[in-house]
Amino acid sequence: MHAATLTHSPHATVPSARSATFAPLQVIGTGALVPLNDGGTVGYANLDYAASAPCLEAVHEAVTRALPYYSSVHRGAGYASQVTTEAYEKARETVRSFLGAWERDAVVFTRNTTDAMNLLAHAVPSGTTVVVFETEHHATLLPWKRAVRLPAPASPIEAISAADRALAEAPGGPRLLVVTAASNVTGELWPIAELANVARRHGARIAVDAAQLVPHRPLDMKSLGLDYVAFSGHKLYAPFGAGVLAGRADWLRAAEPYLKGGGASASVQNGGGTTQWSTSPEQRHEAGTPNVLGVIALAAACEALTGTGWDVLKADEERLLARLRNGLAAIPGVRELTLWGDRSDRVGIVSFVVDGWSARDVALTLSGDYGIGVRDGKFCAHPFVHHLLGASEAPLEAGGASGAGGCGSGQTSAVRASFGIGTTEEHVDRLLHALARIAREPRG
Ligand code: PLP
Repeated sequence: MHAATLTHSPHATVPSARSATFAPLQVIGTGALVPLNDGGTVGYANLDYAASAPCLEAVHEAVTRALPYYSSVHRGAGYASQVTTEAYEKARETVRSFLGAWERDAVVFTRNTTDAMNLLAHAVPSGTTVVVFETEHHATLLPWKRAVRLPAPASPIEAISAADRALAEAPGGPRLLVVTAASNVTGELWPIAELANVARRHGARIAVDAAQLVPHRPLDMKSLGLDYVAFSGHKLYAPFGAGVLAGRADWLRAAEPYLKGGGASASVQNGGGTTQWSTSPEQRHEAGTPNVLGVIALAAACEALTGTGWDVLKADEERLLARLRNGLAAIPGVRELTLWGDRSDRVGIVSFVVDGWSARDVALTLSGDYGIGVRDGKFCAHPFVHHLLGASEAPLEAGGASGAGGCGSGQTSAVRASFGIGTTEEHVDRLLHALARIAREPRG
């Protein structure tokens, strides 16, 4: 059945269900109405948090509170400038404590995870060998000059031994292991504590892409032994354009400024004389006027999540995740993508394919007929999605059922549902109900 020809309101048959609590946090946009193909409207079921999460009320409030005294940072003597500078530097300490980073670590504000990983790639000493799994998001896979790419490991234990071997075989000089904490495709958690041990044993460093972990679970750099962590505010309910690279200061302090300009420069001489760059790693790599409101928003999200308690958030998420995964498993023709199998620990991110349907058509039908927002495609993790679909070098977005399919469906891309604070059982049930109908009616 074509999305546009469906004339009933599918959600009318959805059983009502109690809401997830995620108490006491609220997100902005709950209950927002979206149009349907049949001319009706329905409350939006946002199941695309892994791309960008909605804004927390607490974040919105923090930004609103900051605005009356919004002014320049590190540049003005006026009162508003002092207030804003203090808020900006306080945010750095909030993030430090959110990540469990050392006092001596740098906490550099960036635009997002992509920017943070590129800053780290810029700062690694020349000749550094980077070891990275090809399961990474492109932001973490691509920035490195000299990288050894490891294939998708069949288990967490294999990930540890593959990293061990690669670091042992790497040429002398600095080595950096780069790995995700939680996959943006399958939600699966990677054994970062063990990988940090492996790195340490080889005298290497480890950088962790925590973009998909920190919205769902706590992270403690000190106890895990992590050298660098990167994440994005917009995935952490703080959609104001700030991100973070936190970690060891020495490489950052020694690197050329990431951007050259005001703030990064300590002194500049007339007549083309020498420029002295700031030796503070933060100032050195935060040239120009920073994104103050983004940083205040990001810190407010860190405080709100920590203040609520991870146990509460995790319990709600796990309940919804079990509901979603069990429901998907019960629909003939729907297959979840997983690297390490059903039982591996994961956050609220699930990718799947529907037999006989392209991912794009599933996503469009979910949106137009059911008011559900999901993502479809390869999630900026092309090698990993090709691996999961068994389509080695899959053709560019074929948009339909073509190419080899290791999962038996001939798919070249997948659908991803992801959630968090504000997601309800009704959203999950609506998705399952919709998919059950979609899967019964394969497209020709
Ligand atoms: N790393 C992971 C695991 C991600 O999921 C994403 C975004 O989806 C990124 C990095 C890149 O994040 P950003 O687009 O905020 O730079």
